[in-house]
Amino acid sequence: MLRPSPIRPSVDYNQDGVQHGFLRLPYSRDDSAWGAVMIPITVIRNGEGPTALLTGGNHGDEYEGPIALLKLANDLKPAKVSGRVIIVPAMNYPAFRAARRTSPIDAGNLNRIFPGRPDGSVTEKIADYFQRFLLPLADIVLDFHAGGRTLDFLPFAAAHELPDKEQESRCVAAMEAFNAPYSMKLLELDAVGMYDTAAEELGKIFVSTELGGGGSASARSVRIADRGVRNVLIHAGILEGEIDLEPTVRLAMPDDDCYIISTSEGVIEMCRDLGEEVEADQPVARIYPADRTGAEPVVYRARMGGLLVARHFPGMIKTGDCLAVIAVRQD
Ligand code: ZN
Repeated sequence: MLRPSPIRPSVDYNQDGVQHGFLRLPYSRDDSAWGAVMIPITVIRNGEGPTALLTGGNHGDEYEGPIALLKLANDLKPAKVSGRVIIVPAMNYPAFRAARRTSPIDAGNLNRIFPGRPDGSVTEKIADYFQRFLLPLADIVLDFHAGGRTLDFLPFAAAHELPDKEQESRCVAAMEAFNAPYSMKLLELDAVGMYDTAAEELGKIFVSTELGGGGSASARSVRIADRGVRNVLIHAGILEGEIDLEPTVRLAMPDDDCYIISTSEGVIEMCRDLGEEVEADQPVARIYPADRTGAEPVVYRARMGGLLVARHFPGMIKTGDCLAVIAVRQD
């Protein structure tokens, strides 16, 4: 028997039609005794069929997911659906409201805290509810990410290398259906505690994205999100219609050499922009000390050739920040 969660949904997951409601998470505090965190949720169901779980705001400063999912929740008609669509535009709702990556309540990074705990912190309780109550309902899971305030990405959909190759190929097929301008196969180096890992370990088809960054969304990145989520629902057999396919560039991030981490601090000069090619040993960025003239910059070189797919976004950088990510073309 499942231990209870303190989270109570105001929606019935088995009811046909459209329901807009909340996941109510009790959070008693100074400014609201017996108060609650109210996480918006929409359920759109039309009879038997597969279930898609669509999420944004896993990190609170990434916006393509929340925008595309708020629009979808308003627009999607049950008559066009076979099965069920569960939409949570802002999973880590306290972080989303604070425009922060992590929760202002407990500093929780929702994507590093799975499986969570029903008796833990607010962020752990959210993770636990997804782990034990929402993920088991889903056949296919789409989780939107972007770079947030400190990173900027080439727009890609991603699927992981998995031990179960049959599951991996179903995830890759869903990623290709999302059809972002770039399609990434990646080996996760820091997979413990991720929502991705929780979904994959339950055998689900899982697709994630990185659609931009800098703590905002562009018209282009939202168009990619809008089209991608519809394509994934059609691919899953839930939404009627034709998948809209455009050319995509296939990329892979196979190992640790993809990541360049800063070992100095100061002002960053990028030597390549997102999407540009770099050869092994060529400079990717220079970091100048901010407090003097006459000092040479520290030069950061690519450890492997490929495409620049992510960069540090703010103009200043610190030791330990992710400076750049390089991916290898697959075709
Ligand atoms: Zn994220």
